[in-house]
Formats: sequence, structure tokens, C-alpha cells
Amino acid sequence: MRALVISDIHGNLQALEAVLAAAGTVDQVWNLGDTVGYGANPNEVIDIIRPLAAVNVRGNHDRVCCGLTSSQGFNPVAAEAATWTHATLTPENLQWLRDMPKGPVPATERAMCAHGSPLHEDHYIVSMRDAWTPLQRMQTEITFFGHTHVQGGFSQRDAEWEEERPQYEEQETAEEVTIDVPEGTRHLINPGSVGQPRDSDWRAAFAIYDDGVEQITFYRIPYDVAAAQAAIRAAKLPERLAGRLAVGR
Ligand code: ZN
Repeated sequence: MRALVISDIHGNLQALEAVLAAAGTVDQVWNLGDTVGYGANPNEVIDIIRPLAAVNVRGNHDRVCCGLTSSQGFNPVAAEAATWTHATLTPENLQWLRDMPKGPVPATERAMCAHGSPLHEDHYIVSMRDAWTPLQRMQTEITFFGHTHVQGGFSQRDAEWEEERPQYEEQETAEEVTIDVPEGTRHLINPGSVGQPRDSDWRAAFAIYDDGVEQITFYRIPYDVAAAQAAIRAAKLPERLAGRLAVGR
């Protein structure tokens, strides 16, 4: 079974379409949350994801955009985008967001999906220090997570603790890096952000998990950033949301 694992789409339709085209045929799609917020096409993105994803997990932006929690902890730009998204979403899509489950959500016997940490949906796993406890306490050997918008992860193989940071050649074309995740090893894996990468690589990020060979492949692919920026400007969302897409920050 090959699962396309995506996270933090953030209403970026152009990036999502490029990811789905690049991923090709897969058996399942797992969506780790923050489907909306920031980007200019929240309805179009949900209309694609809703019938497509076998697993969905809610993100913190999803909760604020559908009114489940307030935008109090958000910076002004994120709060403005959430208010715009709430006003733009159709009643049907608002309800779909409200009904989305809290992570972690089981995906297979060996893997589950979370937005932040498998131990708390809003925790950020940035460093090995953050990853150490969840790696040991999570219920399955693999947890896919998002929230940080940084592709990579953290692994435990016997006594070895390793950070996974895919090393790419350049930032212009499509590239991929594969790691082995054999049974008996434990992994926290972030596919990266589809719609707003923050690891200084502007390309859309995703991962494919193949449980037949127990491998995870990380991908970065170019997409039409100019079109995503034009949509943000046409929607009169904050300019910073357009500018950051070009630099991946
Ligand atoms: Zn996010």
C-alpha cells in the first residue's frame, strides 16, 4: 500500500494540484491538517481533499477558521487570514472542518497521523529534544506529523537517535530522497508543508509511505508560486502571505 502523506496545505490550490499530479497513482491519501488558513483558495482545496483523503486530522488553523477556537494565540497576519477564511468558506466546508478528528488518528497497524505531536495536537516537534518523549511513548512505530512546516523527522534505530533532514541538490526541479523504516524502528516523520514551506525551500513538500517495502520517500516539487501569490493579492489577504511563498519562510 502506498500512501501519499500531505500536511499544511493552507488553502494553496496551486501547490496542492502540483503535488497530486507529481504523486501520481497512490492507494490512499493521508492529510495531517491545516488544510486552510493563509492561502486564497480554502473552498477549492477542501472540495478536492474531502472526497480524496482516507485519513484527516484537524490542525490549529482549521479549528480557528471554522470557529472551534478563538484566534487569540495567533499573530495579527494569521488572525486576519483566519477571519477572511471563515467568511469565505461555504457552510458545508465549515461543517466538514468542525467534524474533523483530533489527532492522533490511526492509519495502519504500524502508522498513525497527528498534526502537532502524537501526545498533544498543538505541540511543535522541532528538535530531537521535542521528539524524544513522543518517539518512546507513541502507540505505533511511525507517526506522521506536521505543524512546523519543516520536512524531515526523527528516528530511533536500536540505540541510535537520528534527525532526518532530506539533502537535496538544488531548488529548481523535482527531487526526492528515500529512507528505510524497517519494522522494529521508530519514526516521527514530517512530510513538510504543501502550501507554505518554512524550511527555506519554496518547493511544495510531501511524502509517500510504502508499507510493502517499509520506505518513506520525501519529495520537493516546483509549482506555480506566481499564481498562488496573485490569488492571495486578489483576495486582499496580507501581502506578507504572498511574499513568503517565494522564499519558503
Ligand atoms: Zn500549519
